Amino acid sequence: MTALKTEKKKLCPQCGGLGVVVNPAGSFTQAEVCPCSSHCPVCNDSRYVFQRDGSGREIAAMCGCEVRRNRIRIYNHSRVPAKFYGARLVESQRDTHNDHIFNTFNLVARDYTKNHKGILVMGPAGVGKTHLVAGFVFELIFRHGIPTLFQDFADLLKQLRSAYSKGDPEEGLIDPLSSIEVLVIDELGKGRNSAWEQNILDIIISQRYNNRKTTIFTSNYTESRATTLVERVRTRDRVDEDREVRDTLKDRVGPRIYSRLKEMCDFIQMDGPDRRESDLEADHG
Ligand SMILES: [Zn+2]
Ligand SMILES: [Zn+2]
Repeated sequence: MTALKTEKKKLCPQCGGLGVVVNPAGSFTQAEVCPCSSHCPVCNDSRYVFQRDGSGREIAAMCGCEVRRNRIRIYNHSRVPAKFYGARLVESQRDTHNDHIFNTFNLVARDYTKNHKGILVMGPAGVGKTHLVAGFVFELIFRHGIPTLFQDFADLLKQLRSAYSKGDPEEGLIDPLSSIEVLVIDELGKGRNSAWEQNILDIIISQRYNNRKTTIFTSNYTESRATTLVERVRTRDRVDEDREVRDTLKDRVGPRIYSRLKEMCDFIQMDGPDRRESDLEADHG
């Protein structure tokens, strides 16, 4: 025991001691066991350890290395976009602009319980909303093993349109989003905002609401016209004149979905400089 103090193990520079490294792979991030942890001295790579239960019987329990492998599998199904492979909720990624939301996500990730209230992060494009959410997904999976899915809203609509044109049932795309324990919907409100799009959103949100599942949203649309996304829409009759549109989140999703969101989520406004210009690794959201 006394040797512990003097022989304090140096943390692996690649994984910081977690035993997991994450890299971009195609459109998504991909996690794998860090080379430092490829051999497990605890179970000698059998993946199980033997423990004694209350009555002294020997029982097999999953070794920590197998728990880690399971979490890697969950993470590799979460579909976090490739450019957020470095997103973590660690002190080096905290600053004065994201402090509040950083703390919120950190607390939820640390003390996560099933059916936790959702969070909706709203604010201008480029302030780093998606980066924080991607860090939250990482924490949730590697701390607790919570099945989590990341879904860009515009991508989902694109996939649904393509499924529809091929005659594939839309349930194949919607059901996993309704049943997963934690769902992230990135860029809520983006798209043409047609009745069809609002209906898709309504189905997913209603099912998650009824099943009391935790949903995290990001949106460039906010609750006030002063801070919401400003869009320029070309007017039909006067080609050289753009019309300025300031839809609020409620305008974009409709009053019914909006009131559901209010019940399901804490709304948090995030501001700050546009990180896309200063940092190549920063996000779009
Ligand atoms: Zn390592
Ligand atoms: Zn092991």
